[in-house]
Amino acid sequence: MRDALRTWFDAAARPLPWRSGAGSAPRDPYRTLIVETMAQQTRIETVVARESAFRARFPDLASLAAAELDDVLHAWSGLGYYRRARALHALARVVVAEHGGRLPSDPGALRRLPGIGPYTAAAIAAQAFGVPGVAVDGNVRRVGARLLAEPTPTDARVAGALEDLLLDGTTHPDDAFVAEALVELGATVCTPRRPACGSCPLRPACRAAAEGDPERYPSPRPRATARRWPLHAWLTTRTGPSGVLLAVERRADTGPWAGMHGPPWRDHAPDGGRELGRFVHRLSHRLVEATVWAAPAPPLDADVRWASARERSGLGMAEVDRRALAWVDGDGIDADVPAGEPQPPSRG
Ligand code: SF4
Repeated sequence: MRDALRTWFDAAARPLPWRSGAGSAPRDPYRTLIVETMAQQTRIETVVARESAFRARFPDLASLAAAELDDVLHAWSGLGYYRRARALHALARVVVAEHGGRLPSDPGALRRLPGIGPYTAAAIAAQAFGVPGVAVDGNVRRVGARLLAEPTPTDARVAGALEDLLLDGTTHPDDAFVAEALVELGATVCTPRRPACGSCPLRPACRAAAEGDPERYPSPRPRATARRWPLHAWLTTRTGPSGVLLAVERRADTGPWAGMHGPPWRDHAPDGGRELGRFVHRLSHRLVEATVWAAPAPPLDADVRWASARERSGLGMAEVDRRALAWVDGDGIDADVPAGEPQPPSRG
């Protein structure tokens, strides 16, 4: 079964830029860390487009550790789930301080680093250090559930079953491809709908395929209902020597946009404000119901700075901020928008 998986992986793995050939030798640990961190909750096409630019800006753990958090968040702009960028920054500082600037190879030591869970630890250990193992993400969870024909196996159960099937207790580095091959199999063959069982190397061992209805497994997880979160963006502009300036503040160090910059958001509208428009923005567990206001002044509790468009482009801003700023054009807030008649933004 292991050889069948290897043959399939060598022939069918997608030619992603960090794969210098399927089943290749261990890779650069730092690049593996960046790719695996970005790939959580981000489409692989986006990771391909962004990971090299991030590494160009922060070529190694030392440069990432030495960077200001604001610069790291800015480099992460548009990727969402900014806690990943904050964790990467914290991880780099821990690795420089405690591991001589080099990622440890042991999965247990990797797991003790900020932001590293069981999946990422196993994936880095396998790809970068040749440590065989099974890394259970959503794709591998699905493969395991179908192989076992179990609706809700735990991750430990999936990992144990796949290790029994494919690794057989070996510690030979040649088997390090297994972790990545299983993720690839789940992403491209054992898909949620219409799995291509006819071209699956694990077909002979698959109980769900033998039953004839693999889509029964795994049972769908109950979706958490996103909580509504009404928020008001206060857009205040004034004219300065470098043109139109917008009041922005740095967020506190907790919450979904910790440490990032943006216009003040509050749970109430500004006195004397003029409503510009509304939009809904989805976070992982919350639905932001945003109302955007032209505010005569920033909130009294805000510690704002006045930033030109050029300065704002260098700040780490969340997607929700960029959506709100679509109402600010080069001449400031559109003066032609009449009060009480919210208009959609002309761009963004
Ligand atoms: S045989 Fe089909 S259901 Fe079973 S692991 Fe392969 S693709 Fe998935």
